[in-house]
Amino acid sequence: QKKMESIGPAELGRIILLKSPRDHLTDELPVTIADAVKAGQMIAYFQPKVCCHSGRVTGFEALTRWQHPTQGILPPANFMPGMAEADHNALTATMLQHVLDALTFWDKSGFHVETASLNISNIELGDPGFSDAVLQELEKRQIAPHRLVLELLESMGPINSDPLAHKNLKHLLEAGCRLDLDDFGTGYASLDAIRTFGAHRIKIDRSYVTGCDVDANQQRMLSAILAMAEKLRIETVAEGVETQQEHAYLAQLGCDELQGYAIAKPMPLEQTLEFLARHNEQVDSLPGATSGNL
Ligand code: C2E
Ligand code: MG
Ligand code: MG
Ligand code: MG
Repeated sequence: QKKMESIGPAELGRIILLKSPRDHLTDELPVTIADAVKAGQMIAYFQPKVCCHSGRVTGFEALTRWQHPTQGILPPANFMPGMAEADHNALTATMLQHVLDALTFWDKSGFHVETASLNISNIELGDPGFSDAVLQELEKRQIAPHRLVLELLESMGPINSDPLAHKNLKHLLEAGCRLDLDDFGTGYASLDAIRTFGAHRIKIDRSYVTGCDVDANQQRMLSAILAMAEKLRIETVAEGVETQQEHAYLAQLGCDELQGYAIAKPMPLEQTLEFLARHNEQVDSLPGATSGNL
């Protein structure tokens, strides 16, 4: 038998999905992600985004985790690569519920959290009923569409090549949902999506952020990306900010928002309240802080 450490994430995912349930677990345990969704095992962790200027939390991104009965909490790299279309659709449906539950939870908690972000790809967008289902759910829960941010992975391919995906996205944006282009700089669909849909924000991929406080090449790329965003009047989020030095450099360069371990790792929903309380207290104690708990 192969050792766990010696195999890549995709292979690990396949082993967990296809081998371990049959080999080591009982028959009733889920084998596909759609089954895991039915069993209530697909949960969401939430990672905050903060405004570079005020330091305040602007929203949280939902990131899926598989609460596996024997393997513990598994990240997407262990099960998403090569995932079937039906699994994508089932996962997104349950993640949408988690995101809307979270917005309701924060509203009741007294903390003001403006937005929650849901990751989607061309696969979910290609599902004919997708936009109707999302908008119905928002309506049912009386949540304003602009509080739902869709993070679209640009590496999934040009959105315009699939008429259904195009139609779904257009419908959602016309209703007021926001669009962030994820992992900007790693794929080829972003400029296309900005031109066609007028995306609200780009999320600059971590590969451009790491070491930006010291690496001149990173700095040139970041300046160029920020200059482009300014000309196009779209906002920028830097992802994967791990150090205070990177944080400071990006703020000084004029990036709008930041996300990364330097602020917080993704966490279960209940922990966000403790995080918000602690974070707001910190921000409020800074010189020049304005009132409010945003
Ligand atoms: P992403 O949307 O670009 O999310 C950012 C990823 O980077 C997350 O990994 C997050 O945990 C990680 N991250 C955040 N800050 C830092 C940092 O400072 N340093 C480092 N090294 N990593 C950081 P995660 O949660 O493993 O998710 C990986 C990818 O899986 C996501 O990338 C997204 O593309 C996809 N994904 C996650 N949840 C969903 C989902 O519900 N639906 C879909 N379709 N895709 C999802
Ligand atoms: Mg994302
Ligand atoms: Mg990203
Ligand atoms: Mg990423």
